Amino acid sequence: MKIYISQYSGFCVGVERAIKIAREYTKKYKNIYIIEDVVHNQQVSEELRRWGIKKVKKIEEIPQGKFFLINAHGVGKETYQKAKRRNLKIIDTTCPIVKNIHKEVINLEREGYTVVIIGDKNHAETKGILKNTKRGIVIENVENLRRIKERIPPKIGCVSQSTQAIENVVSVVCELTKIAQEIKFIKTICREIEKRQQEIKKLSKKVEAVIIVGSRKSANTTRLFNIARSINPHTFFVETPQEIKNKWKKFKSIGIAGGTSTPLSLLKKTEEKLNDL
Ligand code: SF4
Repeated sequence: MKIYISQYSGFCVGVERAIKIAREYTKKYKNIYIIEDVVHNQQVSEELRRWGIKKVKKIEEIPQGKFFLINAHGVGKETYQKAKRRNLKIIDTTCPIVKNIHKEVINLEREGYTVVIIGDKNHAETKGILKNTKRGIVIENVENLRRIKERIPPKIGCVSQSTQAIENVVSVVCELTKIAQEIKFIKTICREIEKRQQEIKKLSKKVEAVIIVGSRKSANTTRLFNIARSINPHTFFVETPQEIKNKWKKFKSIGIAGGTSTPLSLLKKTEEKLNDL
């Protein structure tokens, strides 16, 4: 069996940076709290817990004056305000690319545009972008847009969640052109994500089967899976190498890829497991 690991694998720079900052703080301080996982990956989250990072459900549960770590997905303005009111010490690991999207939506509103965010409604990054607007609208896809088209004003400023697939963004923007009079579109898909999505398309055509490794909670990992599946019907999603099935040894070639929150070590372990079949 030939095994190919996608050349764009392992943590992205934003996740790498967030973990590094978290590590540095845990070496010096105790009582660091999070309300969202630093990374959407169970293995990494467990490691962070071992370093002493504590997860709570809401900011109000963090004791006054303690450290509050914001993850790479970022948060809205009100979260910073709440943290300040509780006298929390903020460790901000928001990815600079996401921070830039926050700035873009604030500028768009200043210029008089109603902000439209193309993204997953329930994803932390989308929620954070939305909370940086006064009256933003989230659109997940064309079907969703058709259902709410009466709410779309004539002048809109459009951005997307950084991990969106370009095809979805393009189709929503095309549909918006039928509804709005003026559209200012700012491309905010992360370059790192684009490279991974382009690579998985190539890899999915080249091999007999594809294994996507990562957390099912990770939006960009799920998107990689959907892209690969649309090209190669033998595409499988595993969270850990233990989920590898013996029957997959029938494939002569397998491609392995992971999202931006999947450590490279997990892809290597997946490769080892496949070699042992
Ligand atoms: S995928 Fe891109 S935007 Fe998201 S955390 Fe990584 S580098 Fe930042």
